[in-house]
Amino acid sequence: MKIIVMKFGGTSIGTGENIRNVANIVRNSSKKGDKVVVVVSALAGVTNQLIHEAEELTKGKEGRIQEFVKELTEKHLQTIDIAIENKKLKEETKHSAKKIIEELEKILIGICYVGELTLKTKDQVLSFGERLAALIVSATLRDYNLESQYFTGKEAGIVTDSKFGEANPLMNFTTHQVIERIKPLLKKNVVPVITGFIVANQDGVLTTLGRGGSDYTATILGVALDVDEVWIWTDVDGIMTSDPKIILDAKTLTGLSYGEAAEMAIFGAKAMHPRALEPVIKKHIPVRIRNVFNPKNHGTLISEGAKVESKEVVKAIALITDVSMINIRGAGMVGAPGSYAKIFRILGKNNINVMMVSTAVSEANISIIIRNNQLERAMSTLEIALLGRDLANKITSEDDVCVIAAMGANMKGSLGVASRIFSAVAKKKINIHMIAQGSSELNISFVVKERDGPIAVSAIHEEFNLNK
Ligand code: ASP
Ligand code: MG
Repeated sequence: MKIIVMKFGGTSIGTGENIRNVANIVRNSSKKGDKVVVVVSALAGVTNQLIHEAEELTKGKEGRIQEFVKELTEKHLQTIDIAIENKKLKEETKHSAKKIIEELEKILIGICYVGELTLKTKDQVLSFGERLAALIVSATLRDYNLESQYFTGKEAGIVTDSKFGEANPLMNFTTHQVIERIKPLLKKNVVPVITGFIVANQDGVLTTLGRGGSDYTATILGVALDVDEVWIWTDVDGIMTSDPKIILDAKTLTGLSYGEAAEMAIFGAKAMHPRALEPVIKKHIPVRIRNVFNPKNHGTLISEGAKVESKEVVKAIALITDVSMINIRGAGMVGAPGSYAKIFRILGKNNINVMMVSTAVSEANISIIIRNNQLERAMSTLEIALLGRDLANKITSEDDVCVIAAMGANMKGSLGVASRIFSAVAKKKINIHMIAQGSSELNISFVVKERDGPIAVSAIHEEFNLNK
């Protein structure tokens, strides 16, 4: 018997049929005697719709609420229609879904009248996607003759700080409460279905764990309940050596260390919420990424031991697009303590996230990578703050670049990896604009022109035989 937390993402439960597929997966595990805790995201696309609607409503367009509520209701009722066969259960679930959406409608009207959307209120709005999903998935499990009960993350006992929009779990208290509330259900063979992403602070006010936060909920619960494994069910076979849209013969990786997986999550190998691994690393709980549409495949196992077995140096290559490079030059930065700090303070104050930094020992220039959509704001704030004073005399930007990150735990301490990467790229006559290697030595990242990105990625993929 194993205890497994299974998280199902938006596409895994995007339609009624898919929810039945999920119920089938859970039932199969239960039949084997495993105890399953289910964590769900909102149905595919719903979170984005909720954000968009809430933002539009700050402009006071009350008239659109009705239309939105109608669409959202239809979407969920149609899903229920297909997911649940038992008539009585179907009607009950539809009734509950309507009740939940009525509550949302009131909040939307409130936003419209107040004309602003605080992070706190936004979390409230976003919570409805997961609440509806948990209701439907739990009812579908009952339709499959499993005993099931659904909870919000708050009801399950997860407690966070009050950082709305990106809250942090308070693990000790959370563990205590989750054991008290969820363990007894497992003993009675009840499958708890818990909303991912939405949780609450100590005062019981709703918070969220950041976009994609259902993964984080899954690992928090996994640690609290000290489970055997956490499974993140998604719509691909696992974490791959590269994006299969660029590299046709990219392979699924069977094993990754926590460090490698965390590095890849950060670099946008969309497999996981970047912070989701934090709780499990300390407790050595394995995490498995699996495909709901191909459950025969065992997926990618992220665990403590994975890196020791592997001989590969570079294991995966990510291509990060939609980024821009800013170059700041000025002799004023040389030997002037605090000059870099000033630049980062300006960016930080304006909520501009720096993804990558590189400077030379000459100190006369610094290159920064940020998201494309923040470029305009970053440039104007930097220009206003820096130009015409002593620090910098030239600030330029390029918005047609991309970042390539080669990753693998065994890169640490292996000689010649960088030279193999850069020779492979040079052979394709591609110019490198910026390089950075973090002190973790788990990855080497560099910047090339966007049009060269895919060619550079395939050159490295080939050099390290990742398709074999
Ligand atoms: N529904 C939330 C989002 O789209 C959380 C998640 O999917 O994990 O960000
Ligand atoms: Mg998601």
